[in-house]
Amino acid sequence: MLAVETNNLTKMFHKLKAVDELNLEIKEAEIYSLLGPNGAGKTTSVRMLTGLLRPTMGGARVLGLDISENLQEIRSRVGHLTETPALYERLTVRQNLDFFAKLYKVPETEIKPRIEEIVDLFELPEKLDDPAGTLSKGMKQKVAIARAMFHKPELIFLDEPTASLSPESAKVVREQIIKLAKKEKRTFFICTHNLFEAERLSSRVGIINHGRLVAQGSPAELREMRKDETITIFRFSTWESNTKEFFDDMKIEIVEQNQDKKYVSTIIKDIEKQTPNIINSLAKSNFQLVEVKHEFPTLERIYLELVEMEGVPREENNMEEI
Ligand code: ATP
Repeated sequence: MLAVETNNLTKMFHKLKAVDELNLEIKEAEIYSLLGPNGAGKTTSVRMLTGLLRPTMGGARVLGLDISENLQEIRSRVGHLTETPALYERLTVRQNLDFFAKLYKVPETEIKPRIEEIVDLFELPEKLDDPAGTLSKGMKQKVAIARAMFHKPELIFLDEPTASLSPESAKVVREQIIKLAKKEKRTFFICTHNLFEAERLSSRVGIINHGRLVAQGSPAELREMRKDETITIFRFSTWESNTKEFFDDMKIEIVEQNQDKKYVSTIIKDIEKQTPNIINSLAKSNFQLVEVKHEFPTLERIYLELVEMEGVPREENNMEEI
């Protein structure tokens, strides 16, 4: 069974197509990250999948259940960290979690041990009896993440989970996500702008722009698609005046050459085969090579190219449906 399956999922706000025939398939226990610029349609997609918005066209199944028929059950089996999660500021962390547990019908006897367990997971024990209003922004975010996972949902939607967290806290959250996906087979659907994090965390990423999915695959697959764009840098201990001629003769494209720093950046068509040949020829021609470095395209470079190619969406503020 797929954890999420969308079928031409579409949402219009007046004339604006916020989500445009989105087709996603997310497997169980997968950590899937949906990436996209501001206004690309990430939150709107999640809001449809969690029943907060009705699709204009198309549909989706979440945990095998149709979003137009089984919303109650879907809601009880998924966790959702929204963009701006609100806690009851006057209630303590424990009371917030307790309130949420009751809302989600967690059996009374399981609530206390679960609170102990989850605050431990997210390293919050000393804050347990503090009013939520007195916590820092990052601490509140951690409580909100703990709350979204409290009832042990099979599928967890996280909108920018680590945006307000310190690097240490973000690391704790990332580690817990990986652990929960691996050990407990939970599925994560993450909306994020943090490409570095998406690359390290996700089994697959989708890139959305203007509501449309423009690329999808594992970070490695996306990089593989662009492997022709790998830049290879040759650095020398002395600069030879015939450097450019040498690479021209070998029919290798030079992207940049820097005489002061004594390097050339090139694009080599078949890296595996060509690099040793070039190194041998350089040695034979008495070039003093000190370093060869391949700079493979990062997810960030691929993302920026895809998004810039299509133009960044315009932010609309016509609030039709809240
Ligand atoms: P961000 O990264 O900034 O959170 P996003 O990818 O989550 O962006 P959405 O919030 O899904 O983007 O918005 C997609 C588009 O739909 C935007 O142009 C936004 O202004 C518009 N939009 C979102 N919600 C509404 C609404 N309730 N009424 C009208 N337009 C809306």
